[in-house]
Amino acid sequence: MASRQRRPTIAQQAGHFADRFLVSDPKQFRLAKADPGDTWRLRSKEQAASLLQRGIERLSELQEQLYAQDRWSLLLVFQAMDAAGKDSTIKHVMSGVNPQGCQVHSFKQPSAEDLDHDFLWRTTCRLPERGRIGIFNRSYYEEVLVVRVHPELLMQQKLPSKLIPKDIWKERFESINDLELHLARNGTSIRKFFLHVSKDEQRKRFEARLDEPEKHWKFALGDVRERAHWDQYVRAYEDMIRNTSTPHAPWYVVPADHKWFMRLVVAAAVVDALEDLKLEWPKVDSAKRKEIATAREVLAGEDA
Ligand code: ATP
Ligand code: MG
Repeated sequence: MASRQRRPTIAQQAGHFADRFLVSDPKQFRLAKADPGDTWRLRSKEQAASLLQRGIERLSELQEQLYAQDRWSLLLVFQAMDAAGKDSTIKHVMSGVNPQGCQVHSFKQPSAEDLDHDFLWRTTCRLPERGRIGIFNRSYYEEVLVVRVHPELLMQQKLPSKLIPKDIWKERFESINDLELHLARNGTSIRKFFLHVSKDEQRKRFEARLDEPEKHWKFALGDVRERAHWDQYVRAYEDMIRNTSTPHAPWYVVPADHKWFMRLVVAAAVVDALEDLKLEWPKVDSAKRKEIATAREVLAGEDA
């Protein structure tokens, strides 16, 4: 028995293992130092399966409490290069969550109506209500990523020209940090995930899409062409993470070359975020207790 206690299980070792992927020192952050193929101490999908299952079950319990308490909300932001696995991660991690307590929004190219507003407008309209988990599949961060890599997109935004400074990206980081601080102060907890896939692994996934007819619908020539801008995206992601990692809205840089590992890290980070809220079941006051006693009497009366 004693020797068993001395040898911690992989689950015990795991602890807050998502923390190792948290950007805690943004000024020192270098994307090149983060390994997209990292799997911590785990060697296989099978080894990770029970940990993931436990994470999903705990997430489901916490989400119920979040909903019942109806005070906090949780915003999860997902950003990644194409084929990193945003969709499947969201699907797996949220698989145990009551759909009524969770809202997923995907942000694609902005519409004419979106372009008639400031760059934070369309996502602000979709923020999670109290008690809910909101998931942004892409987000306002596209405004310092794709728009930075393709400056012609900025021109479509109809900004008055004298309001486009040389360092517009710095201003956008400030606006984003201000928004996230405001949200945090008003009860929205925020966690942001950059799913970090390598260029080689992305090529393999694109090739798989070409080889498998049932994946053809996912294939887009534009995604392959976008690889020509890979280095510019890397620089934009790095700058974004360095400038928008804050204690109340941290970034996780999640290794994404092994999908099973990526899911585990995200599930663990979401559980940590909800645990940090120290959620409580709503208190039952004396009026409610009276209601419950009356309901019992009414139901018992039906039998008589
Ligand atoms: P999937 O390919 O898995 O369906 P996706 O998120 O890549 O998901 P797409 O429709 O393929 O969806 O691509 C959406 C595109 O919209 C991306 O290339 C993204 O960069 C772009 N986009 C998102 N927000 C903006 C924005 N604010 N301005 C310009 N382009 C944007
Ligand atoms: Mg796409």
